[in-house]
Amino acid sequence: MGELEVGFDVPAVPGMGAGDVQTPCLVLDLDALERNVAKLGAYLRERGVRHRAHCKMHRSVDVARLQLELGGACGICCQKVSEAEVFARAGFRDILVSHEVRDAAKIDRLARLALLGARTIVLVDDPANVAELSAAARRHGTTIECLVELDCGGGLCGVTSADEAVRLARAIAAAPGLAFAGLQAYQGRMQHLERHEERRAAAAAAAARAREAVEALAASGFACAIVGGGGTGSLEFDAESEVFNELQCGSYAFLDDEYGRLLDREGLRIDRREGGAWENALFVLSSIVSKTRSGSAVCDAGLKVMSFEAGPPAVHGRHDVRYVRWSDEHGLLDDPGDALGVGDRLRLVPGHCDPTCNLHDFYVGLRGDRVEVVWPVSARGKSW
Ligand SMILES: *Cc1c(COP(=O)(O)O)cnc(C)c1O
Repeated sequence: MGELEVGFDVPAVPGMGAGDVQTPCLVLDLDALERNVAKLGAYLRERGVRHRAHCKMHRSVDVARLQLELGGACGICCQKVSEAEVFARAGFRDILVSHEVRDAAKIDRLARLALLGARTIVLVDDPANVAELSAAARRHGTTIECLVELDCGGGLCGVTSADEAVRLARAIAAAPGLAFAGLQAYQGRMQHLERHEERRAAAAAAAARAREAVEALAASGFACAIVGGGGTGSLEFDAESEVFNELQCGSYAFLDDEYGRLLDREGLRIDRREGGAWENALFVLSSIVSKTRSGSAVCDAGLKVMSFEAGPPAVHGRHDVRYVRWSDEHGLLDDPGDALGVGDRLRLVPGHCDPTCNLHDFYVGLRGDRVEVVWPVSARGKSW
């Protein structure tokens, strides 16, 4: 990146000190990221469950490679066809588009992913979709593997009974160009239930519905090579359910404040603030730009660099200051001890990582206080 001008093209270049990084920008604590990735890999391996890393959160081919190489992930999930195309072009060979695809142009592009060398898997919840997918796969001479999506309590997509799952599996298996690959039973809603016991109960209910469908499919001669689901909030329950064989956790790698607030079995936060399992690896690095009043300070990070629907960011490693108000370009901090001065830097932990990452072009990867890598947010904006 030697030709690039720091501050114009990029917020940082490898080798520079963290103090010279242009703010506000996304930074990754590479040590923390690697520990999270290795930890989940080992955790699932011990339980005999595969990890298919969900990349909608980071949209980064570099982070995904780490999840495959260091974490042992078997493949990836993308949420959108355009997102999947970025990863397929970057050389990823096993991609699940964890959504139904119902638009003719998108279906055609999905069928062509395999021409880039990627095993392609998609979700289906409607027999009418089977013929569309089959026609596209035949047109391109490719195979699309299909998971029947079961609504296991989320109330969004997915068939609503085991009987419907069997009917759909039968249609998929009979369709040229398609292959029945198993069941998808992801429930997003339960991921953020704060209390451990609530999450455990919701995960048990979802797993029971998934088990019923898997058994009905097996009884009709359809073995599920993949039974997929699971996210950061439910992974410990899903991993022990003996129903799922592939978990799709994504946010665990970076963590965010909304996930950090979840409570573990002992009633303690799951982030490291109280010694929990996962470390904050993603931050919005921000600088103090104004300190004209006693009791507060202003930083350069507002709505354009973070999502706020899960609340304002936490200030990492500081108990003396609090991020309390925001506008497009500014953040106001409570600073009762007047500890902050112009030029001071804060690591903000965003409320919700997925939409925050999508606001940026780059991740600045720090090893300690040094910039080691600058990674593009490869599929930024690929939401169609
Ligand atoms: C978002 C998503 C996940 C990952 O959830 P995290 O909370 O980020 O771990 C898994 N599966 C599906 C289908 C998803 O949409």
